[in-house]
Amino acid sequence: MPAIDLHSHSRYSDGSLSPTELVALAAKAGVKALALTDHDSVSGVPEAQAAADQHGITLIPGVEISAAWGVHNVHIVGLQVDIHHPVLVAGLAQQAGARERRAIEIGQRLEALGLTGAYAGALALAREPASISRTHYGQWLFASGHVSTVQQGFDRYLGPRKPASVPMPWASLEDTVSWILQAGGVPVLAHPGRYPLSRTKMREMMSAFQAAGGVAIEVATATEKPDMVKYLGQLAQQRGLAASQGSDYHGKPTPWIALGRFPSLPKGCEPVWQRWGWAADAFSSSTPAQGQPA
Ligand code: AMP
Ligand code: MN
Ligand code: MN
Ligand code: MN
Repeated sequence: MPAIDLHSHSRYSDGSLSPTELVALAAKAGVKALALTDHDSVSGVPEAQAAADQHGITLIPGVEISAAWGVHNVHIVGLQVDIHHPVLVAGLAQQAGARERRAIEIGQRLEALGLTGAYAGALALAREPASISRTHYGQWLFASGHVSTVQQGFDRYLGPRKPASVPMPWASLEDTVSWILQAGGVPVLAHPGRYPLSRTKMREMMSAFQAAGGVAIEVATATEKPDMVKYLGQLAQQRGLAASQGSDYHGKPTPWIALGRFPSLPKGCEPVWQRWGWAADAFSSSTPAQGQPA
């Protein structure tokens, strides 16, 4: 099991665990370094840091920022960010405002379809209005019996072009990368295999990401098929991008995903943590522990 998990969520976004519970579970699973990367929020980091200190594991302050690349929505993970940096704080405040307004509008659209109590239901599952995610609506639709899986909630109501889909004014790819860099962090393109892009478009997007100052891509994630991991590893090497890895753990919404469980990085990839002197020393021999073959 890879001991470094650089992508996870808490209740500060759409994860089901508190930062304290998340870190305790990571420690129990043998994770030695965990990045908390909530959607558009760093508010859970102090609590996660305190828990990591207690368990003797390393907490990497992180965030997963929703970004616009043309008409596409991509996710940019920031690792080892200064959570108090004013540029990052201001950018995330803007995203939180947009998220809260969207949550209200999704609620109104669902109400109009006769699904009463949607906003209150989603809010009850979230920490606060600004952290309401489409995941919370999906969970509410499922819990109240309107759909038979959370996925069906996306397919019928929340996904692109569906009746409760609300276009979002997310910050641009360039701006989100810039916030992360200014906050001293490492910008990582999250789960490239999950975007509905052709391989040509994917390479175009990576070029835009690199031109903006992006330095790593997530090569190994829990839901990526071995062929995709291999392909992303090759792309990273060809482009001189470092490689990141993580479970993208959410807890209850995706019970088949576990902390610290995902494929190993393919041979020849430069692990992103080698950029941090302290981590390179501490973890240089820990990657292949019990990993699945790359
Ligand atoms: P949001 O940031 O509020 O737009 O919500 C995006 C989150 O919803 C993603 O990070 C996933 O956790 C989840 N999500 C997106 N698409 C789907 C889907 N088709 N099925 C289930 N969950 C999804
Ligand atoms: Mn999520
Ligand atoms: Mn994501
Ligand atoms: Mn994520």
